[in-house]
Amino acid sequence: MDESLPTIFIGHGSPMNTLERNGFTEAWRAMGRELPRPRAMLVISAHWYFGATAVTAMRQPRTIHDFYGFPQELFDFQYPARGSPELAEEVAELVKPKWVGLDRDQWGLDHGAWSVLAHLYPQADIPVVQLSINALQPLEYHLDLGARLAPLRERGILIIGSGNVVHNLKRVQWSQPDAVFDWAERFDDAALDLLANQPGDILKLTEHPDYPLAVPTPDHFIPLLYTAALAATEGIGACALVRGHAMGSISMSCYGVGMASGKGGQASGAAGLPSGMSNSNRKDRP
Ligand code: ZN
Repeated sequence: MDESLPTIFIGHGSPMNTLERNGFTEAWRAMGRELPRPRAMLVISAHWYFGATAVTAMRQPRTIHDFYGFPQELFDFQYPARGSPELAEEVAELVKPKWVGLDRDQWGLDHGAWSVLAHLYPQADIPVVQLSINALQPLEYHLDLGARLAPLRERGILIIGSGNVVHNLKRVQWSQPDAVFDWAERFDDAALDLLANQPGDILKLTEHPDYPLAVPTPDHFIPLLYTAALAATEGIGACALVRGHAMGSISMSCYGVGMASGKGGQASGAAGLPSGMSNSNRKDRP
């Protein structure tokens, strides 16, 4: 493949988006149709957040149902894409002297990956490798690691960040699926501006007055840093592919780098959460 593949960031929201068809999942499906078919995919998911940098290196990653309190149908969902030990080794080689461990039997595909891939590539016929988010490293580490992945784009690899620009489960408005708090909207707009114009300065968002509310924990924010770093490496901006919010405190905005069309239209109707779940028993994080 001689052309550089786009790279994308998806705001994934509730795991229930896997099973639903709404404004966001339709947009993800449209993206999947527009994107060139990659050799394999490398997914940086908010939900593989632990104390090491690792890539999945098994031939057949299992579908991990890393949540509870959801309908059985979601636990039954399988995304049977193959893995790619070859890509895992390529990643480990590429990012040296940074160290990336090869995970041959621990992780698999978590819902940050498969809730999105279920719509982007519903056939599950493209190999998928996940890259963990090293929770012990500062944000700068992730920008640097993201930049080191850039050559993969010329090798037919689609790099996907899956998180949410704004993600505050304590502030979620359970009964208002399309609501958005002012602070969430302000922060999401600031992210759009930096991604479009100065993606290399994405960490300026940490000084934004709404950062503590928008990013109470870094897990869903960090995947965005990989997309920003890849845009900065190419010297172009990331464009909004779809924008919108869910339940007040979750941004569903998606971004693309090197996409032919960046429509950036508003979407709505993101999946909610099962009734009976409360903030205290909900655990949409590892
Ligand atoms: Zn999530």
